[in-house]
Amino acid sequence: MKTLISAALMLASATAAWAEYPDKPITIVVPFAAGGPTDKVARDLSEVLRKQLGQTIIIENVGGAGGTLGAAKVAKASPDGYTVLLHHIGMATAPALYRKLPYDTLGDFEYLGMVNEVPMTLIGRSTLPASTMPELLKWIDANKGKINLANAGLGAASHLCGLLFQQSVKVDMTTVPYKGTAPAMTDLLGGQVDLMCDQTTNTTQQIESGKVKAFGVTTAKRLHTPALAKLPTLDEAGLKGFNVAIWHGLYAPKGTPKASVDKFNSALRAALKDAEFIKREEALGAVIITDSRLGTSEHRKFVEAEIGKWGPVIKAAGQYAD
Ligand code: ASP
Repeated sequence: MKTLISAALMLASATAAWAEYPDKPITIVVPFAAGGPTDKVARDLSEVLRKQLGQTIIIENVGGAGGTLGAAKVAKASPDGYTVLLHHIGMATAPALYRKLPYDTLGDFEYLGMVNEVPMTLIGRSTLPASTMPELLKWIDANKGKINLANAGLGAASHLCGLLFQQSVKVDMTTVPYKGTAPAMTDLLGGQVDLMCDQTTNTTQQIESGKVKAFGVTTAKRLHTPALAKLPTLDEAGLKGFNVAIWHGLYAPKGTPKASVDKFNSALRAALKDAEFIKREEALGAVIITDSRLGTSEHRKFVEAEIGKWGPVIKAAGQYAD
């Protein structure tokens, strides 16, 4: 009997070793609340990735602390290729913002490839008396000390953009952190907060329907999507040199087998060629990555360069969390 059981166990482990990755569902951890822009990229991408990988993809939202809770969860997950993180520029800004980051951005992950770049927009509650950037600047000046700025926590893209915005206008605002910009948007729509910076993938529809006021885009160039083409860049509107675009990439825990990393990366490259996915992303102002940053080592090099780029900017602003 004993021999039979050990033979069965040996067979089971040999089958597991030979089974082709992935042979069970993959979880993509989104480090922000459901319904926001990071979640949207993950959900849209998971549909095309599912076709490529032949497996169900489960999205798990682990919001909080500007994306660092979700990133920490993946850094500590089993390195078997079945837990993956989809994160944005926060991968590169958190190291400068947190004195005790619970993971090492460059050391604790396998880099799986980048996904897209997305501009942000500066938006406000529809009841704001200002409708244009010059009017907004006057309103800010007249309401110093009373302005609320929503964000998705220290380390989020909305936090970075808001930080740069406060620096540019030289006015400190009260920041209100949420687990993601989906719940922040709910409060902005309800008029509980005044302003927010967020990815066009989350703001386009609200701008189009007039539910929020849009003041400008955060990139150096204007955008071409119908809803956003008329918006000035913040630089044009007087905030000289303002330029921030968000990017998303995928990560697995350090030690994930190379074969699984390569398989995931090939599936990602194929998924990013899906015409429907590209159309959906472009309609919301996002640009799919087609350059060398689709490669795992180029992705890592890019994040390293972004850490070097944003670190001094954040340190100059003097914002830290323990
Ligand atoms: N857009 C958010 C940010 O500020 C995150 C999210 O909710 O997707 O980083």
